Amino acid sequence: MSVSIEERLYTIRYKADEQSHLAVQNPQVCTDCKLKECLSFCPADVYDWDVETQTLTIAYENCVECGTCRVACAEDNIEWKYPTGGYGISYKLG
Ligand code: SF4
Ligand code: SF4
Repeated sequence: MSVSIEERLYTIRYKADEQSHLAVQNPQVCTDCKLKECLSFCPADVYDWDVETQTLTIAYENCVECGTCRVACAEDNIEWKYPTGGYGISYKLG
């Protein structure tokens, strides 16, 4: 039996910081980026491409801190740090 991403995300709890712990270093690099792999490699769908504004949106509140985007952006264009103390993810199971 497969478990949906929504069901998996339900097993975690997140206390969102007021400031994002994720940032794009150079927005123009994202605009020029052909593949935009971040739209597919993030397991929590944090990244989305806004066609209207031609910018990358970052729903940092949903980040599960897996660290993938630290290494998987081919342009090394994502600035990543842990949320400040007391904020971020906590796992209810496991
Ligand atoms: S974050 Fe990286 S993979 Fe995503 S659009 Fe920007 S340059 Fe491309
Ligand atoms: S650390 Fe993982 S969950 Fe968080 S934004 Fe990066 S790829 Fe997505």
